[in-house]
Amino acid sequence: MTSEPIRTTCPYCGVGCGVLVTRNGDGYSVRGDPEHPANLGRLCSKGAALGETLALDDRLLHPEIGGRRASWDAALDTVAWHFRTVVEEHGPEAVAFYVSGQLLTEDYYVANKLMKGFIGSGNIDTNSRLCMSSAVAGHKRAFGSDSVPACYEDLEVADLVTLVGSNAAWAHPVVYQRIAAAKKARPAMKIVVIDPRRTATCDIADLHLAIAPGADAWLFHGLLNHLRRENGIDWAYLERHVEGFGAALAEVADLSIPGVAERCGLDEAQVAEFYRLFTATPKSVTLFSQGINQSSSGVDKANAVINVHLATGRIGKPGAAPFSITGQPNAMGGREVGGLANQLAAHMDFDAEAIDRVGRFWQAPGIARRPGLKAVELFEAVADGRIKALWIMATNPVVSVPEADRVAAALRACPFVVVSDNTRHTDTAALADVLLPAAAWGEKDGTVTNSERRISRQRAFLPLPGEARPDWWMVTEVARRMGHQAAFPYAGPAAIFDEHAALSAFENAGRRDFDLTGLVGCDYERLQPVQWPVGADGRGQARLFADGRYFSAGGLASMLAAPARGPANPADAGHPLVFNTGRIRDQWHTMSRTGKTARLLAHIAEPYVEMHPADLRRAGVRAGGLARVASAHGELLVRAVASADQREGSVFAPIHWNGQNSAQARVDALVGAVTDPVSGQPEFKHAPVAVTPYEAG
Ligand code: SF4
Repeated sequence: MTSEPIRTTCPYCGVGCGVLVTRNGDGYSVRGDPEHPANLGRLCSKGAALGETLALDDRLLHPEIGGRRASWDAALDTVAWHFRTVVEEHGPEAVAFYVSGQLLTEDYYVANKLMKGFIGSGNIDTNSRLCMSSAVAGHKRAFGSDSVPACYEDLEVADLVTLVGSNAAWAHPVVYQRIAAAKKARPAMKIVVIDPRRTATCDIADLHLAIAPGADAWLFHGLLNHLRRENGIDWAYLERHVEGFGAALAEVADLSIPGVAERCGLDEAQVAEFYRLFTATPKSVTLFSQGINQSSSGVDKANAVINVHLATGRIGKPGAAPFSITGQPNAMGGREVGGLANQLAAHMDFDAEAIDRVGRFWQAPGIARRPGLKAVELFEAVADGRIKALWIMATNPVVSVPEADRVAAALRACPFVVVSDNTRHTDTAALADVLLPAAAWGEKDGTVTNSERRISRQRAFLPLPGEARPDWWMVTEVARRMGHQAAFPYAGPAAIFDEHAALSAFENAGRRDFDLTGLVGCDYERLQPVQWPVGADGRGQARLFADGRYFSAGGLASMLAAPARGPANPADAGHPLVFNTGRIRDQWHTMSRTGKTARLLAHIAEPYVEMHPADLRRAGVRAGGLARVASAHGELLVRAVASADQREGSVFAPIHWNGQNSAQARVDALVGAVTDPVSGQPEFKHAPVAVTPYEAG
């Protein structure tokens, strides 16, 4: 490595911060890239500690078959033989890939091409299903395409930022820092936080609505009706650019502030103040995240948020937009290439024209003709034997998928499980028949796309350790061994990216619904952080829909009329509390990287549940004592923390601990496999539980 810093991108959250890496004696130091538009030099605690996470002590460095070290040739031949044999004997629907928002876009692209194009099954889904698929479906229903209309700068120039279901201070810290800095510079800017918990994000809030869990749609439907009553609707915008507004307004016509307040567990004055602020503030951004998405009615909630922006014409303008923020570093990149089972490729669905176009581009006559199984369905199919060969890439579903104990049992029973990862120390890797060592951050090259549609490069600055290889290489090698040499000629990520860009532009001239993903002006080697769509001149687009034209066939946006619904499983006498999960400030996912640094562990060192003191008293649990938290699906044994920041009736637990670092703290074992009927996203934010004191012995 030269003394010149390497420009790369943080591998953690969907903010997608630019990072400069410099050799520093025996190690590496990192700092925020002042020229990267996402962070302008900032980093959060996790990003700043990246240089401390590069040790190889827990790495998987060689392929293994049946727990024994094997050569790459043997491992790849084994994977290809099993997948080919299962397809021949049981058909293409009997195999599946389960991939990850941690993968680079090039990894995603080749995995999607192999499964949908050449195996001929739609069965490739991603762990991004668990974090933002409801927003994806909401965008498609409202805009005609999965497209985030805004950019981070909108959060700084808005006069009102409403964060709903988002603890950005901990989950998207640099976005929070940008909002906080803007608020400090312009104290008149207003911040509203809508969250059952009082989180660190509330530190900058002018108003915190501690809403009852799952009640968000009532709040936004009530806002829509309030806008109608208070002359807050932009009728001219609706007439020109939106359809469905009559039905959407009729749906909410009975909602009054007292009714909304009662349904949402809020004071009428608080609801009235939020409605007053929103109605009076044209430059208004509503940032929404997992608290909206992770729900059995998450798509309808996303559309309820989008509805109020369409109704006021607050979209496509500086400081005015609904803004879904993604959890993972490349959740957006996966969406772009078809990493979701219900998308074909390049934002295209499984319609006849798209199947024909992509099939001709790939020269894949056996291309899949229908969507595959979404994450929860996919593991149900593993459990009941429909799927007989599964490749899991860069993710840990035994920890992260609902009813995680059933997922573990399904993998044990599955005839053939491949796991590619950079560590063998995951609950999922422990159940693999074949383990493939994957390159990690700092060792691989490719691209990622952040929450504001900005494509950035990840660059290698470390040699590949042991026999680790990039995921795109493994998939390519397996594809060739399955007989698809000509379709997988890639020598590196540049060739894959160029093909991805070419597909995005293939036959898209004049196609309003498709040129959204156009990357015609992108060149892998010279790529600077840029927001898609990218024109032939290489320039991106900060905001979408500035001209009021949307991606539906008629160019109109749609307001959705959907009645507000409560959670699928309400609390009951046996399970009277509501379990809610989320991230903590200094850890990332299952801690395989962030758990390596003492200073990050120093923030919060052990798993816990946080409850209101009154609930702890009722449960007979001492603050600081051990509690047993049980749902119909599983249980936890963790320390109980008392905090009035929790609503009474709610129990919060962080998601990070798992069977590798705390056998009693796998939170997703408690969550039922209830999903949104449109998006398939699980209801992580509302699992009924009972809490009792732990009695040793
Ligand atoms: Fe990394 Fe997200 Fe922190 Fe930025 S905000 S440094 S992307 S974890």
